[in-house]
Parts: sequence; structure tokens; C-alpha cells
Amino acid sequence: MAQPTLPTPPTPPTPSFRIGQGYDLHRLEAGRPFVLGGLVIDFDKGPVGHSDGDVLLHAATDALLGATGQGDIGQWFPPSDARYKGADSAELLGQVMAQLTQAGWQVVNLDSTVFAEAPKLSPYKTELAQRLAGLLGIDASQINVKAKTMEGLGAIGSQEAIAASVTVLMQQV
Ligand code: MG
Repeated sequence: MAQPTLPTPPTPPTPSFRIGQGYDLHRLEAGRPFVLGGLVIDFDKGPVGHSDGDVLLHAATDALLGATGQGDIGQWFPPSDARYKGADSAELLGQVMAQLTQAGWQVVNLDSTVFAEAPKLSPYKTELAQRLAGLLGIDASQINVKAKTMEGLGAIGSQEAIAASVTVLMQQV
């Protein structure tokens, strides 16, 4: 007996969830403000960069752009462009988020790790999450900030550099 013809399954809708990741590293130099996650933290060194060198916000911006297939932070804000010299990275992230919001994207959650030997970042985790939440237009409960040392190893371990890694889940509504 002939098998019954099964109905063609409907084409699945385009997924509305997208994941993205970002990573950034900057050198640390004495006498520069230690800018992280849009906060200025008291420390004797700070990141060197064309902008303010905020690794957490740069990694977050790249994660947002990655999730939504929009390239990377260097394409949006080229270091060769004098307009971005000394730029406030919170301002740059705000510009990206405003455009994504206009396209219907929302952040579901953001997880991050900052790699720094010093200063001790645990006292700032709550404030960093609140600041990120404000920039992304979400609640601080949707943000997680972790901090790790490098056990004294490598450029980060010797306080010559700081890095951050960010993963974000986005939803288009
Ligand atoms: Mg950077």
C-alpha cells in the first residue's frame, strides 16, 4: 500500500534571537584615567587608545554588532577618523544601540568578563552592571559582570594590559 503523502512542513520563521560576542584589549599606561564600563575608577594606570580605551564597552559594542550582523566597531568608528580621537565609548555604544533599537532589536541579556590583574573590580560590579543597563535600555538584572586576574601571567598579569569579553543575546521584536 502506498504511504500517505505527508504535508510539507511550514517554513520556519526567521529566528528572532541572535547571539553575538565581542573581545577587546588595551595597553595600560601610568597617568591615564582608568575608564571601564563608562566609569572612571581610581587607579594609577589607564588604557591607551584612540578613544578612551574602554575595553568593556568596546567588547559590548562589538557583541551587539556581531549579533545583528552589522560588522564591527572599527567599521562604525574608524580609528583613522579624527572625530573619534578621545571619544567617549559610552557615546559610541549609545549611537549603535539607538540604531539597533530603531531596527527593533532589544538586548535579552549580556554576560561579560573583564581580565585585569588590578585594580580589584569586585566592588564595582554592581555599578558596572547598572551603567551598562542604562546604556542598553534594559534592567541591571539582565547584565552580568565578572572579573578575573591572570594569576600574574602575561601582559595582563603584569598590569601592562586589560581585556574584556562580552556575550550578548538579542531579540528582534
Ligand atoms: Mg578598543
